[in-house]
Amino acid sequence: MSSVPPSLCPPIRTLMGPGPSDIHPQVLEAMSRSTVGHLDPFYLEIMDQLQQMLRDLFQTSNAMTFAVSATGSAGMEATIVNLVEPGDKVLVCVNGVFGMRMTDVAGRAGAEVVTIERPWGEVFTAEEVQQAVEKHQPKFIGIVMAETSTGASQPIEEISKTVHDAGALLIVDAVTSLGGMPVEVDRWNIDAIYSGSQKCLSCPPGLSPVSFSHRAVDVILNRRTKVQSWYLDLTMLANYWGSDRVYHHTAPINMSYGLHEAVRLILAEGLENCFARHRQNHLALKVGLAAIDIHYAAQEGHQLPMLNAVRVPTGVDDAAVRSTLLNRFGIEIGAGLGAFKGKVWRIGLMGYGARPENVLLFLSALEQLLGEQGYSFEAGASIAAANAVYSS
Ligand SMILES: *Cc1c(COP(=O)(O)O)cnc(C)c1O
Repeated sequence: MSSVPPSLCPPIRTLMGPGPSDIHPQVLEAMSRSTVGHLDPFYLEIMDQLQQMLRDLFQTSNAMTFAVSATGSAGMEATIVNLVEPGDKVLVCVNGVFGMRMTDVAGRAGAEVVTIERPWGEVFTAEEVQQAVEKHQPKFIGIVMAETSTGASQPIEEISKTVHDAGALLIVDAVTSLGGMPVEVDRWNIDAIYSGSQKCLSCPPGLSPVSFSHRAVDVILNRRTKVQSWYLDLTMLANYWGSDRVYHHTAPINMSYGLHEAVRLILAEGLENCFARHRQNHLALKVGLAAIDIHYAAQEGHQLPMLNAVRVPTGVDDAAVRSTLLNRFGIEIGAGLGAFKGKVWRIGLMGYGARPENVLLFLSALEQLLGEQGYSFEAGASIAAANAVYSS
């Protein structure tokens, strides 16, 4: 028999990548409370509260709003496999990794998938989507609101109008946007939306908040075929979350405590305050980086506050900087993916991580490493520029 490993003792990191993000200490504490049964009256009360808080967070009155027991990709999969039947036409807007993933999931669900594409870092205009909708006449349009692989922020409201004028339904990926910027499900007329617990909600990975409009629920209830996934069948999940409380699967009780506390903290802070905090820290980081000549990869005017994708300066070793940030300072940032591999750093300011301590720690650590790499810049300039934002 091999020897028993020591009790685990994870290092304390500052999580400034594309997720998971820094967890709020109150969320970790909530998760360590005693586990009750998944049909315990206490837990049922927590579920009701969580559902109502998720509606407030999504800014919706959709009855079918709850959390799928798995990560954001499961929210994507639940949304698609419940709405889409084999042969349905789905138009996916692809400008990064997560649009590609939606295309893959829709294809596996038997959809006839068509895509429109934009170069990485750019976003779609409502006209582009309208032209594609007119040409292809899809039943569903899928789009990523905050493309975590590129840092680009896709406007949704105008596109939603185009989609609905054509009689189609709009599916939105809000995994990275929810909790960090306005996501207004009812006002923007979004039919199906999914998110994840570990980005701007400051909770560990493991739950995926979802919400479906009346139109989407009608589509689900009028399917010709059974949903191919048993675990993600939304009508069965709704019977557990709804008043019937029919056992479906054992809910991850302590994860739900965590999400309950995480969403509660956001609502207690106030949505507007929370979004303003994300914007301010993003701005401080952005002017700080500009002061040492480091610039954003996403289109100007469409840069996400919570995910800052910046170009690695010429002559600087991408991987060496990231690994030294982690090993010397305990800071995790993300590497570039796909078209941005080796060219971009992805710096997350998500949820609890969107605070001045993280911005200033990161900038000073980065200056030290850039100096060691022989990169030429004015020492201290990034910190002075960021501080000017905080003091203004
Ligand atoms: C992280 C992410 C996902 C996938 O979520 P997981 O929790 O990793 O499964 C999907 N879409 C976007 C935009 C994301 O950032």
